[in-house]
Amino acid sequence: MAKLYFHYSTMNAGKSTALLQASHNYRERGMETYLITARFDDRAGAGEIGSRIGISAKADGFDGSSDLFDMIEKRMKSSTLTCVFIDEAQFLSAGQVWQLARAVDDLGVPIMCYGLRVDFLGHLFPGSAALLAMADEMREVRTICFCGKKATMVVRQDENGDVITQGAQIQIGGNETYVSLCRRHWREATGDLPQ
Ligand SMILES: [Zn+2]
Repeated sequence: MAKLYFHYSTMNAGKSTALLQASHNYRERGMETYLITARFDDRAGAGEIGSRIGISAKADGFDGSSDLFDMIEKRMKSSTLTCVFIDEAQFLSAGQVWQLARAVDDLGVPIMCYGLRVDFLGHLFPGSAALLAMADEMREVRTICFCGKKATMVVRQDENGDVITQGAQIQIGGNETYVSLCRRHWREATGDLPQ
């Protein structure tokens, strides 16, 4: 039975690498996969999923107006899909996560979503909140804090390395960098943000 999977992590845990490896494992056995990523994420060039270790693959893009069910249904008419992979799934809307759930149930195709769990203020992303509520299976892609403990949080830093504690959830193309930390060191870095 097809399932909706959510592989979640903090920044720089290698989730795109994990996605590309999983897709590759299908393809080398002759099975077709369909890769989709957020359209404004052009770190690896338009229409591509890239990873920090240098591998990449072609992908279709989604934005706020995309109907994921339609995209998957259309693709299934021209090829036999074994699995659909969605990168940057934190940017899905709750409605789009429902579209994925319907595709799993009604089209019978497994869908693997990869995304960040929380933003730099410790709040769930909308797509991740919906996936945590609806996914059939969840797995954590792990990385570690500088102290060696599991990193579950992320801080945004400006170009001087100072921690930023306000601003939009999504920041594209700025000079900011992100550092993944355990909760204790995230609290230390942010001054223990209230709320
Ligand atoms: Zn730590």
